[in-house]
Amino acid sequence: MSTLTVDNVTKTYGDVVALDSVSFEIEDEFVVLLGESGAGKSTMLRCVNGLTHPTEGEIRLNGDPINGSRSDIGMIFQQHNLVDGVSAYMNALTGSLDRTSTVSSLLQQQNKETKERALEALQTVGLLEESHQRTSQMSGGQQQRVGIARALVQDPALLLADEPVASLDPSSAESVMDYLKKAASVHEVTALVSLHQVNIAAYFGERFIGLRDGEILFDVSPEKLTPGLVDDLYGNVETVGLATDNSDNSTVDTSDGTRYDTETGSDGTDEVDVIGRQVES
Ligand code: ADP
Ligand code: MG
Repeated sequence: MSTLTVDNVTKTYGDVVALDSVSFEIEDEFVVLLGESGAGKSTMLRCVNGLTHPTEGEIRLNGDPINGSRSDIGMIFQQHNLVDGVSAYMNALTGSLDRTSTVSSLLQQQNKETKERALEALQTVGLLEESHQRTSQMSGGQQQRVGIARALVQDPALLLADEPVASLDPSSAESVMDYLKKAASVHEVTALVSLHQVNIAAYFGERFIGLRDGEILFDVSPEKLTPGLVDDLYGNVETVGLATDNSDNSTVDTSDGTRYDTETGSDGTDEVDVIGRQVES
């Protein structure tokens, strides 16, 4: 249970206004930050995790101002920043270290509880069996799941992810998002995830904050994420699987002709994939 408060945050780099009076509050939700390149997503996440500081305004976690890097905020990067030569288990364990520690000091430093937490985290992301495999031998999707496990080992109150699936193929991206959402839910942690793939965002998000030129364009629940709003954010993109602009109509046509219910996330029969198509179970 945690509350993130972004209070009137402005961030400038010289003449560039990367964030312009941004305010929102999220509490125990899985929130997606949407916006095209340059909109300010990374700047927002970097301000929240204390890697950089707002020029104006304040960010608080459970009422406590964030003034620098802290261990109760877990961050997952697009380029997962793993230690290549060591196992998934060792990489997960690094989540328990402060940022200046070295990998070689890892095993001596960790107590039994931390080691168990690393194995549990690897289990949460479906990699318990692969825990002794070197991450350099893993697929991109598996490596990103190790990145999620590492963030979980921190036992964070807040989970941040900056475009965690941007460099993955659609099927790996879907799988990684599945594990990320499961991880947030199992650990009951508030999550703020930036994504540019609208269809994936629409499937996994519980709330959507759209940034354009550093300003909030919308802050909506899934049923209000309409193609019109997304077009305002990105221009013309494919919006299969989104709510329709007609709010009376809660189903949309998907690319293979099935109907996708935007409220239940189902077409009423089988499981659906990330853009609402039926998958064989
Ligand atoms: P996004 O992650 O949505 O692509 P960013 O937060 O990276 O957007 O960038 C927002 C704006 O701030 C862009 O105009 C970008 O060029 C600028 N910007 C980001 N980081 C820096 C920096 N370290 N120095 C100067 N300008 C920056
Ligand atoms: Mg970015």
